[in-house]
Amino acid sequence: MALRPTIDFLLYDWLHAEGLTQRPRFADHSRETFDAVLDTCERIAREKYAPFNRLVDTQEPHFDGEKVILPQATHDAHAAYVASGLLSAAQDYEIGGMQLPYTLDAAANAFFAMASVSIGSNMLTRGNAGLLMAHGTALQQTVFAHNEFSGRWSGTMCLSEPQAGSSLSDIATRAVPDGQGSEDDPLGPRFRLTGNKMWISSGEHELTENIIHLVLAKIPGPDGKLIPGTRGISLFIVPKKLVNTDGQLTGVRNDVALAGLNHKLGWRGTTNTLLNFGEGKYPVDGKAGAVGYLVGKPHEGLRCMFHMMNEARIGVGTAAVMLGMAGYYASLDYAKNRPQGRPMGAGGKDAAQPQVRIIEHADVKRMLLAQKAYCEGALALELYCAVLVDEQHTGTPEAADEARLLLEVLTPIAKSWPSEWCLEANSLAIQIHGGYGYTRDFPVEQYWRDNRLNMIHEGTHGIQGADLLGRKVLMEGGRGLQLLAARINTTIQRTIQQPALAAEANALGKALQHVGAATKAAWATGNPAEALPNAVPYMQAFGHMVLAWVWLDVVLAALDKDATQADPATQGRVGAARYFFRYELPKIAAWLAVVETRDTTCADLPEEAF
Ligand SMILES: Cc1cc2nc3c(=O)[nH]c(=O)nc-3n(C[C@H](O)[C@H](O)[C@H](O)COP(=O)(O)OP(=O)(O)OC[C@H]3O[C@@H](n4cnc5c(N)ncnc54)[C@H](O)[C@@H]3O)c2cc1C
Repeated sequence: MALRPTIDFLLYDWLHAEGLTQRPRFADHSRETFDAVLDTCERIAREKYAPFNRLVDTQEPHFDGEKVILPQATHDAHAAYVASGLLSAAQDYEIGGMQLPYTLDAAANAFFAMASVSIGSNMLTRGNAGLLMAHGTALQQTVFAHNEFSGRWSGTMCLSEPQAGSSLSDIATRAVPDGQGSEDDPLGPRFRLTGNKMWISSGEHELTENIIHLVLAKIPGPDGKLIPGTRGISLFIVPKKLVNTDGQLTGVRNDVALAGLNHKLGWRGTTNTLLNFGEGKYPVDGKAGAVGYLVGKPHEGLRCMFHMMNEARIGVGTAAVMLGMAGYYASLDYAKNRPQGRPMGAGGKDAAQPQVRIIEHADVKRMLLAQKAYCEGALALELYCAVLVDEQHTGTPEAADEARLLLEVLTPIAKSWPSEWCLEANSLAIQIHGGYGYTRDFPVEQYWRDNRLNMIHEGTHGIQGADLLGRKVLMEGGRGLQLLAARINTTIQRTIQQPALAAEANALGKALQHVGAATKAAWATGNPAEALPNAVPYMQAFGHMVLAWVWLDVVLAALDKDATQADPATQGRVGAARYFFRYELPKIAAWLAVVETRDTTCADLPEEAF
């Protein structure tokens, strides 16, 4: 089953995305306009991204002492993406956008992630500009955000520092007011920043005329000391090249210097940088210090940054899904063509018989079905979350609030589940290729390397687990978990009416009940030191429960459309769901066992014993 029919089925037959056109914001849209966007993205991804995926992996970005050099293919892919209008597709008509629902935007971007995840870094530019639309002043929006949406400039997110990754409260970049009158700068209160930012994606390149860094930094207190914790963090716009209020370059280079490029396992088409802010390499007005303009209020930087978090995490999850999907399609194709071995059973050892193609071996089918179950299930989850984002922004106040809370609970899963299981899918894709999968003659090893990033960035697996069990399932008196349980129960009730799926409906009911009981047991003593050591196994179990629910709901839609399962696509969906319930869902018992007993085997082992 190719990607486009899968996306069409999920969008239209399962999620009824056409219904979004009833909302005033999307009233000019129709199935035709949605399809036109998908067609365009599919075409650009096929023509400008996919053919160059290996090239950008082998021709890593390099610094020639002055500039970072990227292959011509990266420039061409960037130009094609900009020309498609997708950078601003979700924005208002007045600023050149299409007022496209986020659901369609997310689906359209999936094509690029599958074709070449690292050739473009548009997600960062969109996130950066979107944040400014939410928290910037009117002038910051027109000068910075609008020029990013048009593709003239690009954006970065500068949070991490060499010594502060997961623990952002420990960042040490400083921002001090830039002398007299600095608070009245029309572009925003003007500061000078000094510090080092590590791992900054697309931090330096020549793809665009300018790069707009969004930087977290601390404004020292009256005693000159940095305020400890997240409270002290503020957010600044730091352009690589200074600009005036008309959005024109002034000709002055800002004091932001490339300290080095990181050489990565995968995702090599995107530059990754260590940036020095304010070291004096490019003094402005004879002074060291990078010029930065405050966004929002002082000390509220992290809150502004987190505004974009749900969408950023859905984006990371979708990238993980699409890399998994790329491996699935590659290994499916390989399995259909590779002759090897003979069938099990009578006559199987007869070398006079012709060999079979490996897709005929049950174990290879198992590995294919696992990939399908992981990747198509996770794609459905990402699109479901995307619908919740639209609901949050355009639904009735009640529906919007429910969507907000559901997203709080589901986002850690949308980010982390595909990062783990679609990576496992990539490993299975390599396995299906045998020795060839371990070489660079086939694409699957690159998909695995590219995908390995997703458990690390945008909140590591450990941080996501702690967020889910330590915060999300508890917030607002556990209402998010209750809302999710209500939706799962609705699916169970509908499924029970299909006798062929009664076992699955029961299993999902038990899983839901088990996760609920384990949540209570983990917190029975109210002590985070006992509840949280097993936050990742909890998240794994929670994620498997969510995916089982999503699969069952998807299968109901498939059977609504094709009750006799005449279409092989329906047989595939039913098969993948069945696989998930039989081979995957039972795993949650083992994960939850250590959660509910608050097992401290890992936490208690003394360091010397390792
Ligand atoms: C290719 C790439 C691109 C990136 N792009 C960007 C970017 O554009 N902008 C940006 O700001 N950052 C970016 N990052 C940084 C990324 O977000 C960090 O690497 C990530 O947050 C982890 O921080 P760290 O590397 O310092 O690891 P650490 O925080 O040191 O974590 C190391 C390990 O310890 C665990 N750990 C840490 N603290 C805890 C805790 N409290 N409880 C339990 N376990 C814990 C982690 O889960 C992890 O397994 C990028 C990273 C990479 C590799």
